[in-house]
Amino acid sequence: MDEIRINVPENVCAVLDRLTQAGYEAFVVGGCVRDSLLGRQPNDWDVTTSARPRQVKKLFRRTVDTGIKHGTVTVLTGGAGVEVTTYRIDGSYSDGRHPDSVTFTENLIGDLERRDFTINAMAYHPQAGLVDAFDGIGDLRRHVVRCVGDPDRRFGEDALRILRAVRFAAQLNFSIEEETREAVRRAAPNLHSVSAERIRTEFVKTIDSDHPECFDEARKLGITACFLPEYDAMCASDPEAAGRAAHQMRQVRPETPLRAAVLFAGFGRDVQESTQMADRILRRLKSDNDTREKTMRLIACSQMAYTLEEKDIRRALHDAGEDIFPDLIAVQTAQTDDPDRKAFYSRVLEKARAVQAEGQCFRLSDLAVGGRDLIAAGVRPGPEIGKILDAMLDAVIEDPSLNNKDILIEQLPQFRHLS
Ligand code: ATP
Ligand code: MG
Repeated sequence: MDEIRINVPENVCAVLDRLTQAGYEAFVVGGCVRDSLLGRQPNDWDVTTSARPRQVKKLFRRTVDTGIKHGTVTVLTGGAGVEVTTYRIDGSYSDGRHPDSVTFTENLIGDLERRDFTINAMAYHPQAGLVDAFDGIGDLRRHVVRCVGDPDRRFGEDALRILRAVRFAAQLNFSIEEETREAVRRAAPNLHSVSAERIRTEFVKTIDSDHPECFDEARKLGITACFLPEYDAMCASDPEAAGRAAHQMRQVRPETPLRAAVLFAGFGRDVQESTQMADRILRRLKSDNDTREKTMRLIACSQMAYTLEEKDIRRALHDAGEDIFPDLIAVQTAQTDDPDRKAFYSRVLEKARAVQAEGQCFRLSDLAVGGRDLIAAGVRPGPEIGKILDAMLDAVIEDPSLNNKDILIEQLPQFRHLS
């Protein structure tokens, strides 16, 4: 068999060299080894070493104490950070969440043993080659996610791993190995003990993956029942819902608001209910506000209807917000299987671009009058101003020829009446 070679970036090699020359062991480890062996671009390069954090810090000029308690120091080199973590064995997990203690060790195999899956438990050094004590290579070739050691024990230590198994299956298009799979099923109810933030990270990586259809595995294994019962409810009431959601997710870019919008849009009986459910779910998962708000807006507008008439397009740009309009079109395109409808949406998008490029009026800031003009015309400052401006914008969206200061002020009485 050919010797396995991994192309380690220069700055990471420099970190390995410095540690090795100082007499310590050092390897790249985990996700970067897995992804390199699969021919995928690694997200980041992690180093594992026999050196203690104090010793690591002595060897490099610029370091950050990222997780010093857990043995992690970030070394800044070549404009990037490389996480360097001391070989460690995790202590017992009395809460099924985090190790009660971590113990540093001199032994690489001990460090690899604490890792979740065989494909994540390989280490590599350009001279020493690949260290693969649990047949991670074999599992990469078989396309399976398998626990290191006894799966029941491993899921008992940290229940998040059950969701991570699904996440890696979805990212890599792997299946979960049979014994690991059965242990996932048994351990799934323990996900209740895991923090919302950790669950969200894995959930988001699953739906934002190349194979979001694997997310349904999480339901079959009893995982979504714990953190996303809305999904189980949808699938129970409509046997085609899971397939539809997966199909639609695949058609939008792998970005959380888009993927979450098409997934959650089917949760409620109507758009309003689905939007409220998205709000509750994303708050529960401690999502950031931008993601939550964008997801909600995409769902809320997902049933918006319009023709190709410019005034309809202006109205849609105004109602949806031009910032999310292209993404809204992407969601609506994914939600239909009708090729004519899909073609229609791409024409809508083209038309919207033209409307924007021509500087047509669909925003308050495009209006020929502002609050100050209204006050000058005798309107008392206060909430009425906003209402009148909205009514004016509404009229101008319908008929752009009205967007003239003299005309709008002249018609002020009618707009006051409308507001
Ligand atoms: P990504 O490309 O998404 O960053 P990754 O494999 O690097 O994938 P991380 O979550 O960054 O995944 O974790 C880095 C490594 O740490 C993993 O490859 C694995 O070896 C180990 N690891 C992470 N989380 C756990 C866990 N909960 N239990 C055991 N080992 C874990
Ligand atoms: Mg990583």
